[in-house]
Amino acid sequence: MDLATLWYLTTGTLLVAAAMTLWERKAQVQRARELGLFAAAYAVFAVGCVLAMNRGLLPGVAGPAVTNVVMMLGYFLALQGVLALDGKRLHPGLVTALLAAIAAAWFAAGGAAASLFWNHVSAFPIAIVCAFAALSLLRSPTAAGLRSRPIAIAAFTCHALFYAARTFAAPFLAARYGHDTLSIIAEITMYEAVLFIVTMSMSVLALVREEDRARLLATARTDFLTGLCNRQGFFELAPARLSQAAHKPSSTLLAIDLDHFKTINDRYGHEAGDRVLKLFADIVCEIACPKALSARLGGEEFAVLLPGSSIDEAHVVGRSVAARFAEAVAQHDGLGIPATVSIGLAETVGSGDLGTLLAEADRALYRAKMAGRNRVEIAAPRQIAKAA
Ligand code: GH3
Ligand code: MG
Ligand code: MG
Repeated sequence: MDLATLWYLTTGTLLVAAAMTLWERKAQVQRARELGLFAAAYAVFAVGCVLAMNRGLLPGVAGPAVTNVVMMLGYFLALQGVLALDGKRLHPGLVTALLAAIAAAWFAAGGAAASLFWNHVSAFPIAIVCAFAALSLLRSPTAAGLRSRPIAIAAFTCHALFYAARTFAAPFLAARYGHDTLSIIAEITMYEAVLFIVTMSMSVLALVREEDRARLLATARTDFLTGLCNRQGFFELAPARLSQAAHKPSSTLLAIDLDHFKTINDRYGHEAGDRVLKLFADIVCEIACPKALSARLGGEEFAVLLPGSSIDEAHVVGRSVAARFAEAVAQHDGLGIPATVSIGLAETVGSGDLGTLLAEADRALYRAKMAGRNRVEIAAPRQIAKAA
């Protein structure tokens, strides 16, 4: 393939990447800024390619200088896209100053150094910016845990290494094997550019989609009113939490039901009832999170899984939650509602069976209700103090 064909192929690939990124941007409104920056980067690279093909039309070093500055603008836009994932950015003033410095270096070096600049020196800032982008992705809390992150990091790292090699190794190769080496390197450069654009654009799209999927999954597992896990989330996440604590002597579960909640709704209104539920969830979180997995299983029924905890520890948690709730709901925000909870507590050894654990805790909860409510009941075989 000749060099011109590779330039056309690169330009086309860039335009497709820009179009696909802009299309995805319509669906990913929460990442519109980031995708906009990447699409702008691809479009600017495409302009850079057209300029590169026609750089001989401008006088002196103007052609390659302008091309290089435009390409660098594209890299800075891609870097801004990476940084924006974590709400960061390079100050536009700094980017402008760096671009001006690159332009000034071209004109200061003049025509004599044009070939050296085009083939080697201009590759160095590209290596630096791409290395910085790879490092930012490596440290990004947003991208952490997303499967496409290593691919995006690899794309930027390989590109940085390739351009570092063009800066430092290519001059020696050219000196040793003759000037023809440079045209081979130019072809390899264009070939690598296509691979870089495809890998980078696809991994960026994958990152944004994965993040969106994780957000949807979290929403599907979260109870809208209380912010705790919902039933689905609890049953999806609890088995793994139990398994992780399998090496501990025991794990425990609190099944909690608000007492006479229907009466609270009838007397104070549904909205006040909602605030009571929210307040209860906040207290559970305050006392039991983050170690516990807390969920609203439905209505005014909650479950708190305490992986790796003993029944005595869980009993303390249950009593604290009950006491804090009764106190808070009587005072909080002018609610002034006398409300209590009944709690059933069960224990399992090893990774246990969630269904059995929940059924045991439910039976203990039923006993707490039958015994007059406002108390913690422990499932057989152990019995501790009953009054909450
Ligand atoms: P017990 O002490 O035996 O548990 O009696 P209870 O009144 O708490 O239990 P019951 O099952 O009779 O009533 C539960 C009530 O919870 C009925 C329902 O209207 C109310 N409820 C369920 N979901 C919500 C909700 O999201 N918001 C509000 N405000 N009330 C809810
Ligand atoms: Mg109830
Ligand atoms: Mg109930």
